[in-house]
Amino acid sequence: MDYKDLANLIFPDINGIEYYEKKYPKRNLKEGAIVTRVAPSPTGNVHIGTLYQGFVAKKVAKQTEGVFFLRIEDTDQKREVENGINQIISAFSNFGIVPDEGMISETEEKGEYGPYKQSKRKEIYQAYAKYLIEQGKAYPCFCSAEEIEQMRQKQEQAKIRPGYYGVWAKCRKLSIEEMSEKIKSGEKYIIRFKSPGREDRKIKHHDVIKGNVDFPENDQDIVIIKADGLPTYHFAHAVDDHLMGTTHVIRGDEWLSSVPLHLQLFHELGWKPPKYVHIAPIMKNDNGNKRKLSKRKDPEAAVSYYAEEGIPQEAVKEYLLNIANSNFENWRRTNQDKSIDEFELQLNKMSVSGALFDMVKLLDVGKNVISKYSSEKVYEEAYNWAKKYDEELLELLQNKEYSLKIFSIERGNKKPRKDIAKWSDVKNSIIYMFDEKFFSKKQDYQYQIINNKEDISKILNLYIEKYYNQEDDKQTWFDKIKELSGELGYAKEVKEFKANPEKYKAHVGDVSTVLRVALTARTNTPDMYEIMRVLGKESIKKRFEIAKN
Ligand code: GLU
Repeated sequence: MDYKDLANLIFPDINGIEYYEKKYPKRNLKEGAIVTRVAPSPTGNVHIGTLYQGFVAKKVAKQTEGVFFLRIEDTDQKREVENGINQIISAFSNFGIVPDEGMISETEEKGEYGPYKQSKRKEIYQAYAKYLIEQGKAYPCFCSAEEIEQMRQKQEQAKIRPGYYGVWAKCRKLSIEEMSEKIKSGEKYIIRFKSPGREDRKIKHHDVIKGNVDFPENDQDIVIIKADGLPTYHFAHAVDDHLMGTTHVIRGDEWLSSVPLHLQLFHELGWKPPKYVHIAPIMKNDNGNKRKLSKRKDPEAAVSYYAEEGIPQEAVKEYLLNIANSNFENWRRTNQDKSIDEFELQLNKMSVSGALFDMVKLLDVGKNVISKYSSEKVYEEAYNWAKKYDEELLELLQNKEYSLKIFSIERGNKKPRKDIAKWSDVKNSIIYMFDEKFFSKKQDYQYQIINNKEDISKILNLYIEKYYNQEDDKQTWFDKIKELSGELGYAKEVKEFKANPEKYKAHVGDVSTVLRVALTARTNTPDMYEIMRVLGKESIKKRFEIAKN
């Protein structure tokens, strides 16, 4: 009996690997094209780190006219959740990240290199496991879970490296006859890789992000096919990324330490390994401690959070580019109107250690992004968000014409308003402009310098009776507030007031504040001239009446 017989005994009806090598030919792409993927497990609640990886992967594939595909890694079927694949697909597509190949629904896919769901690739993995067994590079292992556990405890007590290697790799030493006996008598087994490595030797490796690293060789006989016939992550990675023509494996840096094993698998299978690109995780500052963003502790770790808050996908992507390449910020400063698609992302400039997630900065990006939107676009996005998340806002937005007028205030000019960072800010930023909402609530008027009831009434009365005219242009409008100030004994210019403070009760700015607070019950609003034009005289009058009382 030889290895070939053993392989046939274990996998009698499995194709030879020539079949698959032919079925998935080398991709015909131009020199330098990057073929890469995102390979999440369908465990529910997509993590922002997964989105980040997919975003980076898609961007570099696009930049090089390569291919970006979505592979679903569902070999750990205990961790799967219902609808998990759809959740991943829509998390990506909500951010405009659409794979060129891969799963497009729970069951459908597109592309010539599939199946793109690992549980559908069982025979493929088994073909390659069979191939390794034929060459004496893999073997069946009959150790039970209890035996493995006992071994682990012994290793721990003796303070030696844990694992299935060297003298501990018991089944490695069985003869082919012994193995086939056991199989024939119905003993349960899994398949292990026979590692040719030695722990006392080092390998040198170049990671695209981490740079040159060296590791001890792998000497563990890791499991490649589990009891359920499905592969482990390591084996599936090697087989899939080989057959799918991946040139760059972009993944989280928790896998960096597995590189020695992965290189060994590629080598023993006779393949050229891909380039490895290990991305540092997004971190969080937790009371001075830096830790990974956690789905359990941090709401912002879930991709769904951004949609719920209404942070525009463009802002999130732009922020992720900030994290990815530190030169992005400079690029943005000098290319204010360009789409982020024009920015050339460089993998080797990504940070080696994890960047801190900065919500303030993200919201700042959100403000900038939204400030460039037309009022129609703001309306549409806010409306779509409100449909899902805020009934009251939706009700306000039913008055489209009026809403558009509000959104047009200080928009479309050189210095557009920047008071909206996310769609959940919109209600607060427009609600006071709606009379029915404004009048239905008791407002809290925080007058500032001029805060005496009589002075306030005088200003409001005189303004509406003598000075306000809906047709005035902005200069005339402002000149009139100056006039009014003068008439009531306030300085018409701030300068004047500062020169002779004893001569005046207050100045034109303080008068404007009275008008602003009376109109909106706020001290901070966009341009008051525009606000008045949108409100119209009737509303202004009514607002003044209420403010006086
Ligand atoms: N399923 C693995 C994970 O979610 C994928 C790692 C990889 O991209 O190879 O971590």
